[in-house]
Amino acid sequence: MCGRNQITGTNKTDETPLVRKNGWNQPVNGLQVFSWILLVYFAVLFYAVEGIALTRFWWPVAFTIVSVCYVINVTFHVLATTINPADDNSLKWKKSSKPAAKFDRKKHRHVIENSYCHICEANVGDKSKHCSACNKCVSVFDHHCKWLNNCVGEKNYRYFVATIVSAILGSIAMVVISFYVFIKSIPYVSSNGASIIGTEYVWWRTSVAVAVVMLIFIALKIFFLVTAVILFVQLLLFHAMLNYRNITTYEYVMRNEKRKVEKKAKAKESDASSDDGAFCNEPIGIASETQRFQTRRRSLSTTLDSSMTNDMTSSTVRGFPTLSMTSATSFDSFF
Ligand SMILES: [Zn+2]
Ligand SMILES: [Zn+2]
Repeated sequence: MCGRNQITGTNKTDETPLVRKNGWNQPVNGLQVFSWILLVYFAVLFYAVEGIALTRFWWPVAFTIVSVCYVINVTFHVLATTINPADDNSLKWKKSSKPAAKFDRKKHRHVIENSYCHICEANVGDKSKHCSACNKCVSVFDHHCKWLNNCVGEKNYRYFVATIVSAILGSIAMVVISFYVFIKSIPYVSSNGASIIGTEYVWWRTSVAVAVVMLIFIALKIFFLVTAVILFVQLLLFHAMLNYRNITTYEYVMRNEKRKVEKKAKAKESDASSDDGAFCNEPIGIASETQRFQTRRRSLSTTLDSSMTNDMTSSTVRGFPTLSMTSATSFDSFF
């Protein structure tokens, strides 16, 4: 996957982080690996264990639905991971093999000022943000997804959403089948193999021990799928809300953070003014809180993405505000 100017890892000579093109570049994210392991796990279990345990009458329907959902999901997953969501003016890796410039906080207050990115050294779009994990500006930046190991922006947002939708449909289909096979297998296991009434005679039911192991795998699969459906639905609703309000995840988090800081500052201000021993009316709270917000905002423009992707795991990101739909936004990191 590495082209001449496709930079991966870190330049050891000056420790300047290099620009990542897409989710297949180094460094690989653990969640990304986990998501692919799950996809393989689900497929192997369905085609080698559960599918063949269904009565032949259901084979055409079950195999068709699951296969179509699976192929569509993997296709969108690959597209969302492969597409480079960079701002066109930020595509330095295409033109030069040199590492991106280092951001000097002494010279500039923000990474992007007046739509000019000091790291990409280019004019970028109004909604472009510089992702620290990818070290490039992303067009209409939404968030950095750890599960895709890629930023989600204007160029791959629709594939990201399509991945979520197809994952929900495929997961529901698989849960129904897994649950049915699990229930139908219980008589065989509980009777210690003496009876196979109500079960199909398939390879993994020729031995009780093997059948028990397979049932454990199926139970785990059901657990993962049900969890995934819950989180995916939350994530989808969250993005539906964002689309309705015409804002990105980044903007949503920033607005929440700003609101929170202002609320805190106001509370401090009212505390100070109601304090009998107060000497002056200087809004110390507001000043300090605003300063704090500015500092966090600065770090955000470079780090939010990588943390926020939490498409599914954590509700807070690097000291980031807990979102109201945390599991949803966090989950995004899921896909
Ligand atoms: Zn940039
Ligand atoms: Zn990124």
